[in-house]
Parts: sequence; structure tokens; C-alpha cells
Amino acid sequence: MLNMGKYEAVIGLEIHAQLSTNSKLFCGDATSFGAEPNTHVSPITLGHPGTLPKTNTKAVEYAIKMGLACGCAIAEDNYFARKNYFYPDLPKGYQISQHTTPICVGGNVIIKTSEGEKSIQLNRIHLEEDAGKSIHDVSPVDTLIDLNRAGTPLIEMVTEPCIHSAEDAFLYVTEVRKLVRWLGVCDGNMEEGSLRCDANVSVRLKGETTLGTKVEVKNLNSIRNIKKAIEFEIERLIHLKETGGTIIQQTRSFDASNDTTFSIRDKEDANDYRYFPDPDLAPFHLTPAYIDSISASLPALPNQLKVEWKTKYGLPDYDIDQLCEHKDEADFYIAWTKQTKHYKAAANWITGPIREYLHETHSNYTTLENAIPYLVELLELVESGQLNFSVASSKVFKGIMQNPQSPNKFAQENNLLQTNSADEINGWVEQVLAANPEKVAEYKKGKKGLIGLFVGEVKKISKGKADPKVVTQLLEAQLSK
Ligand code: ADP
Ligand code: MG
Repeated sequence: MLNMGKYEAVIGLEIHAQLSTNSKLFCGDATSFGAEPNTHVSPITLGHPGTLPKTNTKAVEYAIKMGLACGCAIAEDNYFARKNYFYPDLPKGYQISQHTTPICVGGNVIIKTSEGEKSIQLNRIHLEEDAGKSIHDVSPVDTLIDLNRAGTPLIEMVTEPCIHSAEDAFLYVTEVRKLVRWLGVCDGNMEEGSLRCDANVSVRLKGETTLGTKVEVKNLNSIRNIKKAIEFEIERLIHLKETGGTIIQQTRSFDASNDTTFSIRDKEDANDYRYFPDPDLAPFHLTPAYIDSISASLPALPNQLKVEWKTKYGLPDYDIDQLCEHKDEADFYIAWTKQTKHYKAAANWITGPIREYLHETHSNYTTLENAIPYLVELLELVESGQLNFSVASSKVFKGIMQNPQSPNKFAQENNLLQTNSADEINGWVEQVLAANPEKVAEYKKGKKGLIGLFVGEVKKISKGKADPKVVTQLLEAQLSK
């Protein structure tokens, strides 16, 4: 048995996120996924001599957005550097990246763990271009190259070595994916490679302050694989330590077929990339006014909404977390609660009948954009006791979605409004009591809990129209006779 408890895992993550710009980082080639191979490859992408790259300002803006959302400092003076190395899918022989001047410095991402909130410290977020793709599985003998992806804008987010479990790494990547989607700077699709992660892992004895030798597991393309790869590495490294083996600094890859990792290469300490400022790209200066304007354009972030909804609306954490899962849903809630004070009820409607409706009809919140005034009215009918919730959600809501109209009018026309008329309700009450003589006898002998059954029966025969408060009063009156 391994003595895992003696050790502490140390993890630092590098996430590459492909920015959702229409064109590449330094030319007008399209960035769309899934095109015919080698169709988005202008001479600039191919790095032909004499071509001149130009920086895509949208990509710069997106990187700044992400940096501001993470509380990074934004560097005012930036330049791009060439990172020289040969790779078959890197046609220029160098990658354009930011070397000593990452556009975003520091910052953090908050994750919510079972032990409470934790802050994952960022080292930097920088801009760089992606390489193309080498395809090994089409031909048994050849490697095919698709350069459509070459030059696509990426941000690379690098954490400090401050994560200590596979679970926290999992939560961090989940949070980053949510954040890039929230900001609209990356689609977050890991299957399509829009978000990829390298995990650096080392272990040390608890209490030690120096870092152990790390291994880097490259190109993890799902959040599940990130967790599995880290779990495997932590155990493998501890096993090496416990059995007197040597940990060598390595680059490894994950094998999803058996949840293990294998070495691709030993990493020499000093890779000489001969970085130098790209002479074809002018350094760029960001003015504080420009950075402020991007800051002003940021949507409210989940963490801000959480505080606001908790303090202003008294919304429980569970509802808040649910509503902050997807921006379109949070936006819808914001729009709705501008027009109603039934904050908790609106949250319940969203996580209940509305989600169900969108799921059943394969639609999204854009279909509900014009429905808000009707939903405001519907909520009021329910909250004021004029309409029973189950009738409201199963009949009225569906009715007004099919044929947009006032829910009050719809409910009246279809005779669905609740009644609190004692005469009408007494009719149902008498009917129910007459049909259940034994239960009435039991009630009278002291089995008072049966009241719930009677109320339920009245609800049933009145088809949800009887106001439950009045029903209870009238039942009690009848039964005490
Ligand atoms: P490299 O030059 O190998 O890419 P960096 O120092 O740039 O290494 O760090 C890359 C990532 O590895 C960062 O996320 C960092 O936090 C993490 N890292 C660095 N050293 C360690 C270590 N000993 N154990 C775990 N993670 C580490
Ligand atoms: Mg690295």
C-alpha cells in the first residue's frame, strides 16, 4: 500500500483557448472549424517570404476581456516574439507568441470546492498563434498536414503551481470554460480542440516548500481526461518516491483507453527557442482609456451576480449556482426580474417549467425574448393565488407559448382561474366527504393528518381551481360539525 498521506501534490495548469474571432491572429484567413483541409491558408499563414502579418485587434480585445474578468493587470506595452523551432505543422519554422510581455499578468480564478472557495492564482495570460494539425490516422505510412488551424489566435492561461488535487484542477478548468463562454471569447468546445490543457504535476512531502521535479501531460482534450491524467500521475510519482525510483522531468501523453500516461520525451532543461521580437510586427501600446472601454463592455460576471442576487434578492446559493451556469439563462433571469419582485418564484420557474419547455421544444432563450411581459403576468397570477401553479405550468404557460397572449385572458377563457368562492368550493368539499365516509370517521376519531388527503381530493375534482386555503378552512368547518 502506498503511503499517499505523506505527500502533497503540486499542479500547475496551462490552458490554451482558441479565441472566437472570425479571422486568424495575423491575417484574414477564416478560423472556422471543420473546413476542407488546407483551404484557409493564405501566403501569410504559410509564412511565404515577403508576406506581412498584421495583428487582429479583436483577438487583442478578447485576451484583455479574459484578463480583466480574472483580475489580471493589463500590460500597456506589448510586442510579439518569434519562438523558433521546427515542427511539420508549423510552416514558418517559428511560432509567434508573447515572450517576456504577456498581455495579462497575475489575476485569479475562484473555484467552489467541497472545502469552500479557493483562489487559483494565475501567472499570466498571453496571446499566441496555433500550429496546424498533423494527421496520423488516415494513411498507414504518411502523416498528412492540415494547415487550416495554423495562425488561429489562442490565449494561453498559466496558473501558479498552487493546485493540490485532481478534483480542484477539474473545478478550475470547468470554471475557465464557463468564463470564456460567458465572455464569448471562446466556444469552450474541448472535443473540437477549442480548449486544451497541459497539466504539470509534481509531488513533495507535506511541509516541504521547494517544488519537486515536474512532469507535463500534454494536450488533454476533455475535463474528465485532465482529472484522470492527474490522478494517475500523482499516484505514479508517489510510487516512484516510495520505491526509491527517480523522477525525471518528462513530457507525457494521456492514453484514454486505460486512463494511464506514457512518456513522449524527456525534457531537457534549457530549450533554446532563440526568442526575438518579430521584426514584421510593430510593438503595440494599449492606452488606459482603451482598456477602460473594454472593462465597461464586460457583462456582469457570475461572481458579481452571485453577490447581487444573494444580498438584494435573498436567493439561495443553490438557485444562484443553477442560474449562473449559462449566460443566456442568467440574462433571461436578469431581464425578467427587472419587471417582477417575485425573485425566488422566477428562479423556480426557470429551473422548472421553462427549462423543461425549452428542452422539449429543442429551443433556447431567444424564443422567450418577447414572452417576458406575459411571464410577469403569469407569475403574478400564481403568486397572488388566482392560479394554481401546476395548472399555470402545465396548461397556461404552454397555451401562451403556442399562441402568445395574456395569460389572464387565456386562463379566463379556458375556465382555469382558481376560485375562492365558498359556495362553489363547498360543493366540492361535500362531494369529497360524501364519497369517503370511512376516512371521515377516522378523522373524527382523531386521525387529523387525513386533512391532506381530503384537500388533495378536492384539488383533483376541482381540477386545481379551488384555492387550497379556502378548501382547508371549509373542510375543517364541515368536519367539526
Ligand atoms: P515550462 O517552461 O516547462 O513550461 P513554466 O515554469 O513556464 O514551465 O511553468 C509551466 C507550468 O508548470 C505553470 O503552470 C507552473 O505553475 C507549473 N509548474 C512549474 N513548476 C512546477 C512543479 N515543480 N510542479 C508542478 N507544477 C509546476
Ligand atoms: Mg509548458
